[in-house]
Amino acid sequence: MGFVLPAELATRLRAARSIGVITGAGISAESGIPTYRGKGGIYDDPEQGDRTIEALSAPTLRTDPDRAWQAIAKIAGAASGAQPNAAHHALVEIERKVERFVLLTQNVDGFHAAAGTRNLIDIHGDTFKLLCMKCGRRGDLSREPDIEPCIQTIVATGKAPRCECGGTIRPDVVFFGEMLPEAKVQRLHDEFYHRVPDVVISVGTSNMFPYIVQPVLIAAQQGRLTVEINPEETEISGYVAYHLKAKAGEALTAIAAAL
Ligand SMILES: [Zn+2]
Repeated sequence: MGFVLPAELATRLRAARSIGVITGAGISAESGIPTYRGKGGIYDDPEQGDRTIEALSAPTLRTDPDRAWQAIAKIAGAASGAQPNAAHHALVEIERKVERFVLLTQNVDGFHAAAGTRNLIDIHGDTFKLLCMKCGRRGDLSREPDIEPCIQTIVATGKAPRCECGGTIRPDVVFFGEMLPEAKVQRLHDEFYHRVPDVVISVGTSNMFPYIVQPVLIAAQQGRLTVEINPEETEISGYVAYHLKAKAGEALTAIAAAL
């Protein structure tokens, strides 16, 4: 049995001219990427979770980049061979079908970009984009023919990769204790606060960060259509017009088909 959208929701979606979507770890879980928190997540064991958070912090990156990269390699290894799933592809189709579309993601797995989403705000960055901390040179691991050897080298040697200039290379992601990139915060404000989309859909996020919760609450306050896709109850479930307790892939595929 496939997932069926409530008929009234389908009608309201068809009338929408702009759609904003917010995604979290739940959307990539269907690709086999472990979620960070929650059962089976990377931070499920609190003690190990604390150590991982410490390893992925700005001070560790500065003082002990090898340790930071060992944690990165572990997460990248868990995602090894994973591909964008039906949910990522459905969002690309939704973008094609509406006049204005924006996607805000907390995920750093690069799947939305790989699937082909164009108007993307990856607020926490992208693990596959690299940045030299000394000379500022940028690289893109996802464009390399095979990223496995790079990850394997880090796992085997336990060493952070180095730039030709001798500087330490870091992933272009927001580490714990770092500020969000200003330009992306500006885009978030413009797309979700100044021009509130007709529909705001939150997918697979446990909604802990204020900048992830606010766009949904503002849309609800302004009388826009709000939808949550999550098999679990979250702190925004009580505020949205529709809470679809479904898998991201089936619910988003149904929404794309309804437009
Ligand atoms: Zn360099």
